[in-house]
Amino acid sequence: ATPTALMVGTGRGAQLGILIKGPEVLEQTRRITTIVLDKTGTVTEGKMWVADVVTAAGTDLRELLHLAGSAENASEHPIARAIAERAHTEIGRLASVESFTNRAGMGIEAVVDGHAVVVGRPATLESEWGLRFPPDLTAAREQAEARGQTVVAASWDGAVRGIFVIADRIKQSSADAVAELRQLGLTTVLLTGDNARTAAVVAAEVGVERVRADVLPSDKSAEVARLQQAGEVVAMVGDGVNDAPALAQADLGLAIGTGTDVAIEASDITLVSGDLRAAVDAIRLARRTLRTIK
Ligand code: ADP
Ligand code: MG
Repeated sequence: ATPTALMVGTGRGAQLGILIKGPEVLEQTRRITTIVLDKTGTVTEGKMWVADVVTAAGTDLRELLHLAGSAENASEHPIARAIAERAHTEIGRLASVESFTNRAGMGIEAVVDGHAVVVGRPATLESEWGLRFPPDLTAAREQAEARGQTVVAASWDGAVRGIFVIADRIKQSSADAVAELRQLGLTTVLLTGDNARTAAVVAAEVGVERVRADVLPSDKSAEVARLQQAGEVVAMVGDGVNDAPALAQADLGLAIGTGTDVAIEASDITLVSGDLRAAVDAIRLARRTLRTIK
């Protein structure tokens, strides 16, 4: 009877858009105590756009768009796509880069028209590249972060010349899903490479209790392990290539079906739609299925 009930459970899951890798996954699902949510693309839509471009004193807007846009045009990151698209829309043709380096979770470095261009997290530009963030851009940066938006700074030839304010939309269902996860007795954690201020605003909007921000892609799985060492049985929900190691480390990995194949492969469950309420359905289903067995 036990295997049959599990088969019925996984079959019911498939009907609900919850693809479960094997019957043993339901038992893991029932045991979880903490659920870690990736921010970008999981809690938010992950379809980013440039909401604002602000130049530092003495910087030409077209030059900022040209150099930062051309540099980012060599990257696949959603923030880079948004910047390159904005630049292309406003100024037309972009230059090809002479050299390009991606620094995962930090930003990019490129040579464009002979200029050494860096685009990335403001904090990282200071700590990794030794660049000073211009005081005349501080207010714009703080206002954007207070709205839950992400600020990316652009520099060339050793000076920060402007910022791009990157916007994303919180999925319509995220707040409801988080409320239900908490009703199920789970601790909710938001995990992101984004800065603490932006992350805190998003967490507050959807009702997530704890925030782990400024986490490098390579450290996401260590954050999951830390929760496990503290005695939590951890589920992780994510969509990106960056999330794959954390999804594999978690006691239960749940991939957003519209996300990357790498995330799906690393996970135990795929939520076919992008709707986080499917994670709630999965947990309810596991609890119900295993209750009927006992
Ligand atoms: P997340 O955890 O939200 O998926 P990432 O780890 O990919 O984010 O990136 C973390 C941060 O690094 C971004 O919020 C951004 O500030 C910066 N960053 C990463 N890649 C780029 C890029 N190509 N251009 C500008 N900034 C970038
Ligand atoms: Mg993501």
